[in-house]
Amino acid sequence: MRKFEDTYKHKGLRKKLIDDIREKGIIDENVLEAMMKIPRHYFLDQALGDIAYEDRAFPISEGQTISQPYTVAYQTQLLQIKPFEKVLEIGTGSGYQAMVLAEMGAQVFTIERQKKLFELNKNFTLRNRYPSIKYFYGDGFEGLPTFAPFDKILITAAAPMIPPKLQEQLKEGGMMVLPLDENDGQRMMRLTKLSGGEFKEERFGSFSFVPMLKGKKH
Ligand code: SAH
Repeated sequence: MRKFEDTYKHKGLRKKLIDDIREKGIIDENVLEAMMKIPRHYFLDQALGDIAYEDRAFPISEGQTISQPYTVAYQTQLLQIKPFEKVLEIGTGSGYQAMVLAEMGAQVFTIERQKKLFELNKNFTLRNRYPSIKYFYGDGFEGLPTFAPFDKILITAAAPMIPPKLQEQLKEGGMMVLPLDENDGQRMMRLTKLSGGEFKEERFGSFSFVPMLKGKKH
């Protein structure tokens, strides 16, 4: 079995990565601090070694990716996470983003549509460190009506449209961050639910995510 170690060298590389991300414009120190605590190399194949601390996305299994650290930081910063908030994440993938949210004190509900990725997460070493994360196998377009409403919702796959059921499951005053597919690429959006159920929409930079797909995959 693989032995996981978080050495001084890893911590040094991680510090450098965090400094990089800060330089690229991430100013929420709570986000950076959370990312400093999570050994990202645990999420990658051992053979990939120190590449874990480069600011880039990586393939995980099932043709999916662990998002680029800058992108994780960017989406998390837009969400303005506070301790004890209920956060719904669509697209568990490697589980890295969920752990960043949990490290910031959020109560995380994360959904993955691919059975294999969902199963992989069950046996992941770091999972026991974050009992505040609840993992679900399902279709993110449906959300989790039983646990709604949520303070924050984060979509980590490119959405073809703003999922109406997720809008419903957001608290008044709550925020949803998602990369939205548009003609000229994917646009990062932040929606804030106003009183009366209206939404304020803010548009940010363009990003590159794997697509958000309908239905579950076995
Ligand atoms: N947050 C992840 C990045 C995931 S990549 C991380 O930190 O590693 C996007 C993930 O969204 C993929 O695992 C993909 O299978 C999943 N996904 C795509 N469409 C989905 C849907 N409708 N519901 C749930 N998950 C979905």
